[in-house]
Amino acid sequence: MMKAPWTHDIVGFLNVWQSSGLFHPYTCDSGHDLVATPDGWICSKVGCSYTQDWAYELVSMDQFEEHQNTLLTALQAGRRYPV
Ligand SMILES: [Zn+2]
Repeated sequence: MMKAPWTHDIVGFLNVWQSSGLFHPYTCDSGHDLVATPDGWICSKVGCSYTQDWAYELVSMDQFEEHQNTLLTALQAGRRYPV
């Protein structure tokens, strides 16, 4: 697990993940999509106070960058992941 606080790059990556429509998003107990912040996930639904301070581990920064590039390439090409 990757515990918050997270860097700007990781927050950006997690939010691309959430909005891509290519992956099952992180959700709260009620099934609302979560939004990544440096302090962890918050629920996107007004009035829902769910928070979560972990995400699945990205093993290394190299893997993170590789994964991000793959994701962005897939998004730009309008393809589903894995391509
Ligand atoms: Zn919620």
